[in-house]
Amino acid sequence: MQIPVERAEAFYLPPPSEPAEAWALVPPAERVFRWVELRQQRRITPPDGFLIGQRLYARINHNRWVADCPCGSAQVVTPVDPRFACTECGYGWVTLIFPVDVDAAEASVAEELPHLRNWWHSDDPDPWGHPPSDAPADPATESTAEPAREVPQ
Ligand SMILES: [Zn+2]
Repeated sequence: MQIPVERAEAFYLPPPSEPAEAWALVPPAERVFRWVELRQQRRITPPDGFLIGQRLYARINHNRWVADCPCGSAQVVTPVDPRFACTECGYGWVTLIFPVDVDAAEASVAEELPHLRNWWHSDDPDPWGHPPSDAPADPATESTAEPAREVPQ
């Protein structure tokens, strides 16, 4: 069975003590606020209105659709409700940019193990984590010589 790329509506779910459909009437982009409230035991109000002209690119990170807030926080998002508001700093709402063909982006990573499934939008001018920080550095910029050791006198 294929493991699907996870989206907000499948990630931010009510606690087991509530019926599975308890948040069914909450728009998928807003469920993160319920989820964070539940886990942090504090009231968080989604922002009012939209930040005109502000947009964020969605990406696939370890098999989840995510978007990165300028504050450094990130959350799971969904192409079904492509909006973002940050539960940490209050940024938002902004429009999310998903690929035109979401299915093709998901299919492009489907052969990888879920934790290796990463994808970045080709138009994103500043793709977070791309290339991955654990990628080998450009060998042309690395010195191959061993640094000289100081010998104690
Ligand atoms: Zn933020």
